[in-house]
Amino acid sequence: MNRTAVAANFVHDIGAGALGRELLGGKGANLAEMTRILGAGRVPAGFTITTEACLAFMRDGRREPDALAEQVDGALERLERTAGKRLGDADDPLLVSVRSGARESMPGMLDTILNLGLSDLSVEGLAARTANPRFAWDCYRRFVQMFGSVVSGIPGASFEQEIASCKAERGVALDTELDTDELRELTNRFKALYLTHIDAPFPQDPRAQLERAIRAVFDSWLGERAVAYRRLNHIPDGWGTAVTVQQMVFGNKGETSGSGVAFSRDELSGAPVPSGEFLANAQGEDVVSGLRNTSDLAALAELMPQVSGELHEILSELEAHYRDMQDVEFTVEEGRLYILQTRNAKRPAQAAVRFAVDAVAEGMLDRAEAISTIDPSRLDALMHPTFDPAFVFDELARGVGASPGAAKGEIVFSADAAVRAARAGRASILVRPFTEAEDITGFAAARGILTSEGGKASHAALLARGMGRPCVCGASALEVDLEAQTVRVGDRLISAGTMIAIDGTTGAVTLDDVPMAEAQPSEQFRQLLSWCDELRRLGVRANADTREDALRARSFGAEGIGLCRTEHMFIGAERQPKMRTMILAADAPARRGALSELQPMQQQDFEELFEAMTGLPVTIRLLDPPLHEFLPNQAEAQLALEHARAEDSPEVPLLERKLEVLASLIEVNPMLGTRGCRLGILYPEIYEMQVAAIALAAVAVRERTHAVPQLEIMIPLVDYEQELALMRDLVVRVAGEHGLREREDFAVGTMIELPRACLVADRIAEHADFFSFGTNDLTQTALGFSRDDVESKFIPVYLEHRIIDRSPFETLDIPGVGRLIELAAEHARGTKPALKLGVCGEHGGEPDSIEFFERLGIDYVSCSPFRVPIARVAAAQSAIRARGR
Ligand code: PEP
Ligand code: MG
Repeated sequence: MNRTAVAANFVHDIGAGALGRELLGGKGANLAEMTRILGAGRVPAGFTITTEACLAFMRDGRREPDALAEQVDGALERLERTAGKRLGDADDPLLVSVRSGARESMPGMLDTILNLGLSDLSVEGLAARTANPRFAWDCYRRFVQMFGSVVSGIPGASFEQEIASCKAERGVALDTELDTDELRELTNRFKALYLTHIDAPFPQDPRAQLERAIRAVFDSWLGERAVAYRRLNHIPDGWGTAVTVQQMVFGNKGETSGSGVAFSRDELSGAPVPSGEFLANAQGEDVVSGLRNTSDLAALAELMPQVSGELHEILSELEAHYRDMQDVEFTVEEGRLYILQTRNAKRPAQAAVRFAVDAVAEGMLDRAEAISTIDPSRLDALMHPTFDPAFVFDELARGVGASPGAAKGEIVFSADAAVRAARAGRASILVRPFTEAEDITGFAAARGILTSEGGKASHAALLARGMGRPCVCGASALEVDLEAQTVRVGDRLISAGTMIAIDGTTGAVTLDDVPMAEAQPSEQFRQLLSWCDELRRLGVRANADTREDALRARSFGAEGIGLCRTEHMFIGAERQPKMRTMILAADAPARRGALSELQPMQQQDFEELFEAMTGLPVTIRLLDPPLHEFLPNQAEAQLALEHARAEDSPEVPLLERKLEVLASLIEVNPMLGTRGCRLGILYPEIYEMQVAAIALAAVAVRERTHAVPQLEIMIPLVDYEQELALMRDLVVRVAGEHGLREREDFAVGTMIELPRACLVADRIAEHADFFSFGTNDLTQTALGFSRDDVESKFIPVYLEHRIIDRSPFETLDIPGVGRLIELAAEHARGTKPALKLGVCGEHGGEPDSIEFFERLGIDYVSCSPFRVPIARVAAAQSAIRARGR
């Protein structure tokens, strides 16, 4: 005998005790539990085939395990005894539903077959027994239709066509208007359709029907829809689905019957009033298919007041039992209410927050439990406008949802055009193949950013998130021609000035005038966040470069700035030319001259930042990107030189020199080139100017306000401890020259963003007052994945092949990059037990990564201001879980 057959009991009766959702699936487990709470009379009887059977089926090349058939026979016999009816009986047939049920609900993704057990023979028995032939034929035609499409793969549209032509022939509008003869006729047409498509008559043996239906549910686990859903929701393939076979109850027995779905609280707002939909004289699929207009629960209360009262009672009973908002499927058969399913309700962010806060006020949950019901990754929606969910639009293209929120405006192709549009009071969307540092003014002026290249970690994405601008990246269907100022999508040519709308949450792009739904952080949301602050251990800071960002970050609850990227202080109409002069300078004195003009501007920026953050830590990173990012591109410079030569202009030598320097700065791999602390070592005068500006700003603010932030100066891209030692000396010397004392007035630390730095973290720690893990670059360098390229190139294919479940730029690659961070933390704390450890890469705002940082004992995370509330909730959840371990 087969080992699995001996070992596994694949089939469990619904009333026979709970085994947990891993084996029974969410639906099976909840049915077992509901039977216990509500009593067998409320929940139709049946049995559940475990996920183990599905896994065995997949493992053995889509073959059911040997023991399954026998165990199903046994369970079916028991069900027949309980029901007092037999499957397929010619007099009084038992009908069953066959439903899928994964560990986590996957609404609409897996298959269901209803009314199973009907045949040419048993339909007559059902008609006679119920004295309702119309009902019996309605069930049979539904069964043939569902079995034909779900189990045998006949296109659903063929059945719908038959229904439409039948209705047209009889001159009726609704399915419910078809009489018995017409339904019998329709069933016959369906069976003929089956014969044509499958080349076999519709199966009449109910046991064979059941076997095929069970197999179809197993198969649906591997179907395209389900696979795509799992990928989006990070559900492992290896879970499998359970199958629940349950006695049918009928909502289509006439006007005292019906089917519906109900939520224990308002499904959109979370207000403590049940909501839902109901259809009289209908089966469940009529409600969800959207083909018939449903009524709300108020209509049920009018039609069937007693049932409505019972339903409300059951909803609160189930909610109190599961201690979470419930989503229930119910059927009323001739005035009697049955509950077919309950599950924790999937709900939009505002409903989730409202439920959590109300549940505490009602005494149902304590604060920690309430916080744990929130999915932090959905909270984004509470801070950004979105496309009006009720509006149906034509999708022009789809890219990566890179910065949440929605925006619409006229297409502009340059930062200048965005600025001009903003000055004229017009909303714009900046559309580019990709963006560069010099586009920053466009980011500020435009309502949203759309690129045809790049992904979640590209420049455009980071900047957009930091500035709270909606952004869609990598919409590769767009061919952006900056010269012609057009976008081509297929054979459609779209020009500048055309209105376009983007949804940075979903990645959707449309030319339709989509209405926007505005976001307002509610009082409840603030309340929930304050509870999170009481429970979390991890600090939460923000990545912010300007006063506005800093103030926004504070208003979202940031406890400091974990990363101020100073490169943004070198761009803009006034500064960039000075920066260019500095880079093009022939020697260090000339460079110093240009830098001295930049210094007061930087000082001013720092003063504004410090005033916005008094009393809180502010980590300022010295210049990081390669210098060529601040220069015009080489082709443009070449063109300018050619023009100058043609006109015999006196500018020629200067332009020649410029081109020479440009050429000398070009690197094949600039991200691995002359950037980070390498700049400070090659051109110390740049860092000296920055430190002077920081120190002068700190002194000025201290004099003005008698308060300063806790200053932390950070050196980027350190590999060798000697690099940090050198740069530390520079910082201490220059800050000292302006009256700041090491450690008392400022700390010096480093980014840890290269694998080598992780491996020698103990040595680097000797020279550092703090570490901040730059997980963007660490991911890029540890995996050898270019952060600006891979998301639009091979990550989608990697996801498809299941090489990875999620982009490592979105959630930390724990086995690889995570291991490096763990090593570095251990090494560093071995040298300096009290060394402060932070994370300032994008992962600092991502809930699963935050959970990992909590486990490592990292001190704080720092993320884009708009992600601060998410990080506060995720940090609290991680702390709650850590305490529970
Ligand atoms: C990082 O590399 O994680 C980081 C925060 O720095 P940047 O994204 O500016 O390179
Ligand atoms: Mg970096």
